[in-house]
Amino acid sequence: MREALGFIGLGAMGAPMVRRLLEVGHRVLAHDLNPVALAAAVSRGAEGRDSPAAVAGEAAIVLVSLPTPEVVRQVALGVAGLAEGDALRIYVDLSTTGAQAAQAVAAGLAPRGVVALDAPVSGGVAGAEAGTLAVMVAGDRAAFDRVRPVLEVIGANTVLVGGQVGQGQTLKLVNNLLAATTWAAACEALAMGAKAGIDPELMIDTINKSSGRSFPTERFAAGPVLSRRFDFGFRMELMAKDMRLALQEAEALGLVMPTSRAAQMLYGLAMADGGAKGDVTELVKITEGWAGT
Ligand code: NAD
Repeated sequence: MREALGFIGLGAMGAPMVRRLLEVGHRVLAHDLNPVALAAAVSRGAEGRDSPAAVAGEAAIVLVSLPTPEVVRQVALGVAGLAEGDALRIYVDLSTTGAQAAQAVAAGLAPRGVVALDAPVSGGVAGAEAGTLAVMVAGDRAAFDRVRPVLEVIGANTVLVGGQVGQGQTLKLVNNLLAATTWAAACEALAMGAKAGIDPELMIDTINKSSGRSFPTERFAAGPVLSRRFDFGFRMELMAKDMRLALQEAEALGLVMPTSRAAQMLYGLAMADGGAKGDVTELVKITEGWAGT
């Protein structure tokens, strides 16, 4: 049996990550507010705990995969949070929460002798299931070396971005800003092609063999949109959160970012239209609606 790990947040990404960690022989002490998610992990071999503090009372390494920076701060530093657990030594945040939250949590945990690494991931639910995620880690190198074998179970593409806490988050936000903006542009272009009468399947297949192809045309349009199942597995509100965090960091750097801000408006419209809980691939419904296709 490999060493015990704590894991908080057993959602679309966390559940398959925990499954992989269990498969290679780790003992996993798991917690989630949602009893259904926790029961599913326990049925696969994880041991359930009723609070982050209980997890951090037993595990020296705790990973979290949570929706927002607010939730991450609460789980790490709030009542019955990770900071209350005596066993914890290395905290690893796999969520997309921005550099500010990463630095605030690191500062809150440091007096407890806990080292914080930010380690946001990219590659979607399919990447989490296959263990092929990109993991963008930042922070103390010795702590990175210690957790690297664990991270490589979930992410074949694990990289140390830098020694400063928050640098992994910034790189992840740069990546997601590009993916989100590319997807917004693709939604407009695809609606134009459909309105002009081009067969959607032929159009997407041809784009994916041409210079307009991108992760969104290959992984959002070709599967979830063409099938009309809209099942990529990443909620619209999470992508909108990533754009908000990215543009906050850009503003702090004094950058204007007009193209990304225009794309952000499209996500804002989709959210206002009731799409927050829907899949990010449903963004195309907005441009399809305007085109009447
Ligand atoms: P999710 O909403 O499916 O999962 C989050 C889990 O956290 C849920 O099970 C929820 O019950 C749990 N949770 C919420 N508040 C909690 C609390 N206070 N205590 C304990 N558990 C709590 O989200 P996800 O899609 O798995 O994304 C997780 C993170 O990873 C997000 O930051 C997201 O931006 C990022 N991310 C997601 C994807 C993707 O494709 N889904 C890809 C890369 C990165």
